[in-house]
Amino acid sequence: MYVIGTAGHVDHGKSTLVQALTGIDPDRLREEKERGMTIDLGFAWLRLPSGEELSIVDVPGHQRFVNNMLAGVGGIDVALLVIAADESVMAQTREHIAILDLLRVDRGIVAITKSDLVDSDWMELVSADAVEVLKGTTLEGSPVVAVSGATGDGLAGLLSTIETLLHDTPIRKDLGRPRVPVDRSFTMSGFGTVVTGTLVDGSLAVGDQVELVPGGEKTRIRGLQTHQNKIDRATPGRRIAVNLTGMGHQRIARGDVLTSPGWLKPTSAMDVYLKVISDSPRPVRHNMFATVHTGSSETVARVRLLERDEAKPGESTWAQLKLDRPISAVKGDYYVIRSNSITLGGGKVVDPHARRHRRNYEPILQRLSLMERGSEREIILKSIESSEPSEFTEIVNRANLQAALAVTELTVMATERLIVIVGGKRAGPGAYIYSASGWSQVVNKTRTLLCDFHVKFPLRKGFPKEELRSRLGMTSQVFGYVMDLLIQENVLVDEGPVLRLPGHVQEVSEDLSRSLNEYLEVLESSPYSPPTDFIADGEVVNLLVDQGKVVKVSDNIVFSSSAYDHMVGQISCYIDEQGQISVADVRDLFGTSRKYALALLDHMDKQRITRRVGDFRVLR
Ligand code: GDP
Repeated sequence: MYVIGTAGHVDHGKSTLVQALTGIDPDRLREEKERGMTIDLGFAWLRLPSGEELSIVDVPGHQRFVNNMLAGVGGIDVALLVIAADESVMAQTREHIAILDLLRVDRGIVAITKSDLVDSDWMELVSADAVEVLKGTTLEGSPVVAVSGATGDGLAGLLSTIETLLHDTPIRKDLGRPRVPVDRSFTMSGFGTVVTGTLVDGSLAVGDQVELVPGGEKTRIRGLQTHQNKIDRATPGRRIAVNLTGMGHQRIARGDVLTSPGWLKPTSAMDVYLKVISDSPRPVRHNMFATVHTGSSETVARVRLLERDEAKPGESTWAQLKLDRPISAVKGDYYVIRSNSITLGGGKVVDPHARRHRRNYEPILQRLSLMERGSEREIILKSIESSEPSEFTEIVNRANLQAALAVTELTVMATERLIVIVGGKRAGPGAYIYSASGWSQVVNKTRTLLCDFHVKFPLRKGFPKEELRSRLGMTSQVFGYVMDLLIQENVLVDEGPVLRLPGHVQEVSEDLSRSLNEYLEVLESSPYSPPTDFIADGEVVNLLVDQGKVVKVSDNIVFSSSAYDHMVGQISCYIDEQGQISVADVRDLFGTSRKYALALLDHMDKQRITRRVGDFRVLR
């Protein structure tokens, strides 16, 4: 199924023509009827002589409602450019052509309406104007047909021209990622909330779980309709009405995108290719504000020009759109920017989830042009490199690929060691992916950190995990995945709470071994009140802690492990019998002083063996 969208200046006969073709009055609002003017989008459909059904989106032509025109023109396959024979090309004829050009709508038909009002010589002049105004745009060379919505003249010719054109129009691809940019949301009595829009990039079926982006609300499809007929499943390119369960229509607005849950993330910055239209009355300047229209959404953004301070009419440049509020977009989507109700330019989204870039920085500009033009493999690599590691779904979105295709490509790339996958052996949702160079940076940085640590603390078993995680700046999840692989590849050895390099052994010289034993003897000489004035090297204590020979309960109190275990055992038995124990009880039990008893109990609290209740300890 295809969607045709009208375009053209106000009062040139668009709605009349749609009604003549379909029998449906597309001006559905009362105000539109009263004012005789299209304000918002109108919808109609017809069956072609071939039997094929066709949807029509009728857009307003008035300058004040170009924003509404933009909300409807996104998903169309063919443009029906309407020019009134008595007025010929006017301001919004040009503006709509420029918009269709920016959105790369490259199939169109020109209908010169009101043919009943002019003679054939005049008609020829207007046709020539139409041919001229389309030169250099995506619609150059479109067929021109004379019609009259009033008398019906030329309608049959128009229909057969539409049919011929659609014959060569490719069916929209199913990328397995359905999106419906919502253009209307309303309540129907007996049904509840209904949203409408053109389905792109995938299919939807009754019963499917869906999500609204950017809001993130999840719901289910209760019913589907196309052209007021119930259907069970909708394929890409169809205009559909979707009945949603349990969600008030006020919570959904034009510009939201209805999609399958999980993959489409809202964005607040996009890298784009920006073309300033030649008719623009002014240049686009770095940091200016503009309204961005993409899909059916409209939002304010700051335009950051990445390679110049100003782009003049007719010029193109790389830019970043910093959006005022999040929207959703995928790589390859088209957009238009306007300011003060004037269309300035637009183009293609190259990276829908962009980071802030240095301006005039060659590597960034090169990355963007590769993202736009490169092979699938190059695009995948560039999208990984833009933020390492990248989660699988992020890559699929950034590179605008079908998920199944991305899995295949990433699997091949992994076997060729062009990329490294962590968090699962295979590419798929939840897996994180590094480029080969990104991964070797991680390996090198980890090795350097551990090596420095081992040199500095030769007596310690290894680097504490949590500290390593923060030094590497990773989330716990990614850190866990990365460590698993590093351990598996024998870059690191897991030692419980610490990690070490495989070659690291705690070097204990004869001298050191002697001092260790001396220290242990000193501790044992008075096991429950070990001397605190015998200063042992901090590293010696750490080593003994690592070896499990001593327990450090406070900054200056260290018990031998045997004394510690004995005391913990006794205290536990005591509490078992008595229900609780005080500091004084502990002091008396071991013939020690209050200082030791207190430090020991505090440590046991920290170890979650005991718990303090007033002046007593009880078992946890
Ligand atoms: P739109 O703003 O482009 O949708 O224009 P409309 O369809 O509302 O038409 C504007 C005016 O032109 C209306 O008064 C129509 O009756 C009139 N009109 C539209 N098509 C024709 C036509 O083919 N012949 C004549 N004589 N009038 C027409």
